[in-house]
Amino acid sequence: MSDMTSFIRELPKAELHLHIEGTLEPELRFKLAARNSIALPYSTLEEMRAGYLFHDLPSFLAVYYDAMSVLKTSQDFYDLAWAYLERAHAENVRYAEIFFDPQAHTSRGVAFHTVLSGLRNAVLDGRRLLGIRAQLIMCILRDHSAAYGMATLLESLAYRDLIIGIGLDSDEAGNPPAKFAEVFRRAREEGYRLTMHCDVDQAGSTDHIRQCLDVIGVERIDHGVNVLDDASLVAAAAARGIGFTVCPVSNRYVTGELKAHELRRMLQRGLKVTVNSDDPAYFDAYVTDNLVAAAAAAGLTEPDLVQLERNAFEVSWLGPGAKDALLGELDRFEAAALSEEA
Ligand SMILES: [Zn+2]
Repeated sequence: MSDMTSFIRELPKAELHLHIEGTLEPELRFKLAARNSIALPYSTLEEMRAGYLFHDLPSFLAVYYDAMSVLKTSQDFYDLAWAYLERAHAENVRYAEIFFDPQAHTSRGVAFHTVLSGLRNAVLDGRRLLGIRAQLIMCILRDHSAAYGMATLLESLAYRDLIIGIGLDSDEAGNPPAKFAEVFRRAREEGYRLTMHCDVDQAGSTDHIRQCLDVIGVERIDHGVNVLDDASLVAAAAARGIGFTVCPVSNRYVTGELKAHELRRMLQRGLKVTVNSDDPAYFDAYVTDNLVAAAAAAGLTEPDLVQLERNAFEVSWLGPGAKDALLGELDRFEAAALSEEA
């Protein structure tokens, strides 16, 4: 392991853009299919991996939603989240904000409560048994109607204290942020924190980022690399301290490029940019791999990497006490790493 790789692995990290359904590794998919007596069109892990063919967002989403059919019971969702938390803990992720997509489950007959209870129990055990903190963000699927999104938001209110924020994901083409203005207005009134995906190089990317800032009033944008295409957007996002949750390896799958140089430019312009893994089981890269790939491609230094994690803790939705404690941990890590070098 190179010095840079071990530095990144040991760096205290926060992950803010992670879809729990995107952590479904082929091994667990087979195990859950067997437990739930679901027939899969694959007989080996290799065959399953070979079926994971995608080159853009829609082709990825087709594979992704199909795989979720094995998730049925609260225990299944627990096992999914627990596997992620163990893996994240091993990479020194100290805090994770975890997206889940209830509509991808309720639409196939799995109750909201089943999804949330499994995820919540894993989050509680992660804290108790591993010392990793996590909170849940509910995403609305943007390729469904705003009315369905509102119904899902209203359903979530029974579990208001288990969910920190609301996001927006899935296929962006023809589904701009403004389509969900009412849903997000209500979410804000209910006290949820707000974020939205603005995927990379979409038709209307800069318009969508502007809508996020001016119409929705988000605190963070997931991906959002195209902010660089418009200097006035960069200035507005920097002034408001908007967090950007960039996912380099995911970018490579859906656009052919890591966008690592864009990441470096975002850092240089003072944007609160962070690095995350998005759907690591499908992109074969957890957060350490994403940071290693971006650092190698864009020549990021150790202080750059510390800054990326400082940004992540700062734009996280932790309470002030926990946030300060983790920022302190990062400061101590940085001081110890620098004194070793001296
Ligand atoms: Zn995402």
